[in-house]
Amino acid sequence: MQRFFYICNTMMKPINVADLLEQTTKTLFSFEILPPLKGKSIQSIYDGIDPLIEFKPAFINVTYHREEFIYKKREKGYLEKFSIKKRPGTVGICAAISNKYKTPSVAHLICGGFTREETENALIDLNFLGVNNVLALRGDPIKTEQYFVPEEGGNEYAVDLVKQIIQLNKGQYIEDNIENASPTNFCIGVSGYPEKHSEAPNMKEDIIRLKQKIDAGAGYIVTQMFFDNQKFFDFVALCRAAGITVPIVPGIKPIATKRQLQVLPKLFHIDLPEELTDMVEACKDNEEVKLVGEKWALAQCKELMEKQVPCIHFYTMGKSNAVRNIAKKLF
Ligand code: FAD
Repeated sequence: MQRFFYICNTMMKPINVADLLEQTTKTLFSFEILPPLKGKSIQSIYDGIDPLIEFKPAFINVTYHREEFIYKKREKGYLEKFSIKKRPGTVGICAAISNKYKTPSVAHLICGGFTREETENALIDLNFLGVNNVLALRGDPIKTEQYFVPEEGGNEYAVDLVKQIIQLNKGQYIEDNIENASPTNFCIGVSGYPEKHSEAPNMKEDIIRLKQKIDAGAGYIVTQMFFDNQKFFDFVALCRAAGITVPIVPGIKPIATKRQLQVLPKLFHIDLPEELTDMVEACKDNEEVKLVGEKWALAQCKELMEKQVPCIHFYTMGKSNAVRNIAKKLF
């Protein structure tokens, strides 16, 4: 039914994820994928999506990966600096998957590495390809920077990116001499952090910044992964108390390896509950860890669904098996 609606709608009005989340009467299923490493075919993306498509995802997000700098040794010991993008292709993948699966795709767009003009051009590409849902993010500092440094002439915070997209939705491009410019129709999501963003001085300040993104025109929030539902419930309560009324979508990641006990807190600045880490530590191998991770994530999802969250968003990180096993029991 939902797919039929999409096919009809591609010819009329494109699907807006914020509207889907506002209007749904049951918890929706969505997930996030990474573009393949440069050189790999798009089939690797389809292989990750195919096992999940029977659960009728409401939307599929595609992450954006900015450039990294590497140094190559040259003659006389000189080092040459190269900029490489290991996972290019976000825009093309979004268009390909919404076309192939007749499911809305959400393109992640970041401030880092983009001037405002490059951002505008990326938005024009997305608009022409019919990808009208974006998740507006700032991006992390690159490895050689301690703090995030915007591109010269680029957006500094996600809120600035949201404002730029809203301007385009009004037909206002950077060059002010474009006559009769067509307005775009982007639906904008933003990120939220149940355990606070690592750079925010405190939760109150972080929620004030989050509200600024919503006031600027974002229509919904997707959260960073968390493993303790109480943190999500507390976060939602703080958002509501601050006057944030848009849908808030919890992000869930099933743990799959012992190493993730160290990697996830370091990368995402989150805590793992003792009960979970004890169970993972007691596993004899990663096959057992996967079972523990799935069981934990399933319990989280059941409780979230009981509390009628609009959608559960899974971080697949290129591995769809665990998400498939969970989705089979829920959607
Ligand atoms: P912002 O909302 O700009 O906030 C960044 C920090 O600045 C926060 O501490 C905030 O409190 C503070 N702040 C905001 N506005 C102001 C202001 N005006 N003055 C002072 N302080 C301010 N990264 C990628 O590179 N690619 C991806 O595809 C990607 N996808 C993601 C998806 C989700 C659901 C999430 C949760 C994160 C994702 N990230 C991705 C990571 C994200 O880019 C980082 O967490 C980044 O550090 C912050 O991004 P943001 O959009 O939340 O930033």
